[in-house]
Amino acid sequence: MTDAGRARSLVTGGGGFIGAHLVRALLARGERVTVLDDFSTGDRANLGDLRHHPRLSVVEGDVCDVRIPAADRIYHLACPASPVWYQRDPIRTLRTCTVGTLAVLESARSTGATVLLSSTSEVYGDPAVHPQPEDYWGHVNPVGPRACYDEGKRAAEALCFSYHRQHGTAIKVARIFNTYGPGMRADDGRVISNFVVRALAGRALELAGDGSQTRSFCYVDDLVDGLIRLMDSPDEVTGPVNLGNPEEYTIAQLADRVLDLVGGPSRIVHVPLPTDDPARRRPDISTARRVLGWVPHTALDDGLPRTVDHFRRQDPSTRQAKRA
Ligand code: NAD
Ligand code: UDP
Repeated sequence: MTDAGRARSLVTGGGGFIGAHLVRALLARGERVTVLDDFSTGDRANLGDLRHHPRLSVVEGDVCDVRIPAADRIYHLACPASPVWYQRDPIRTLRTCTVGTLAVLESARSTGATVLLSSTSEVYGDPAVHPQPEDYWGHVNPVGPRACYDEGKRAAEALCFSYHRQHGTAIKVARIFNTYGPGMRADDGRVISNFVVRALAGRALELAGDGSQTRSFCYVDDLVDGLIRLMDSPDEVTGPVNLGNPEEYTIAQLADRVLDLVGGPSRIVHVPLPTDDPARRRPDISTARRVLGWVPHTALDDGLPRTVDHFRRQDPSTRQAKRA
């Protein structure tokens, strides 16, 4: 593989939350980076200060439709990630996961690029095994409202492994667990941004169900480190590899922490639990530890204040802006 400093990396979805952090980390390593993004859930402002960076180019378009720019390494992140956004146009979500991943793999087949797929803990569905190791096959409702994403990512993983077996394409599959940090959009819709934005505005935090469902939250810098380690790993390391922080919290505990941090008059109101909302989620990260030497370093108690600061610095009108 090319020395990291001379590598040409393509980041599909590089205008999104994780993608923009990844792009910065790759540029800091001296790489040349191309972003392919249609900015459907991303934000041009995420890359705003890098607009004139000599080693960055940005191609605007849908990964399903445009010619995939040539690269040695492809971090394939393009896909809406928040349940609110991926359920808004479920057919498009499925198309992005399947047709988009097929396009990336076809390109890699002809150029010899390595493809890293950003898969998800959602492939485990509402898990019957806890914590979730990579060899657990999952418990997914194939016809529920989350299926466009869960099954889309499962199909994307199957596409990667089929290209690997049939064509020898170099692939790496990362199963990413709930990730948060500065750079999330105020209207992203996921729990941490929702809670923080509402607390800062003095509005009620909407707690789904009784709040006893659990999630494990990974700070974005740790996640990006894991993605790069996975890409740097030898070709035989295909994954899937869980990347997440095993610290597990109930959503009620998270709400309390946000209220403690932000202060102010907000209270908690209960709203119905969404259909098929997983009851618990926590990664078994022994594979990442063993194969990549990776462990997350940022506890929620350190990452959450940084995330609050990020939203505090935003203009309140931007903070509350809703996407069309
Ligand atoms: P995000 O919505 O902020 O970023 C996704 C990016 O992909 C956006 O910039 C969006 O405009 C772009 N995109 C979407 N569809 C596209 C298409 N058809 N063509 C081109 N670009 C398109 O989400 P994120 O949190 O940064 O997630 C990035 C990736 O990581 C996604 O693949 C997601 O499934 C995966 N992931 C994220 C998490 C998390 O907690 N953030 C957890 C598991 C998996
Ligand atoms: N949730 C909540 N209030 C919100 C947003 C989400 O209680 O404003 C809950 C949601 O029902 C789920 C958990 O928080 O149980 C995590 O939701 P998120 O959308 O962040 O990600 P998921 O892990 O479900 O994909």
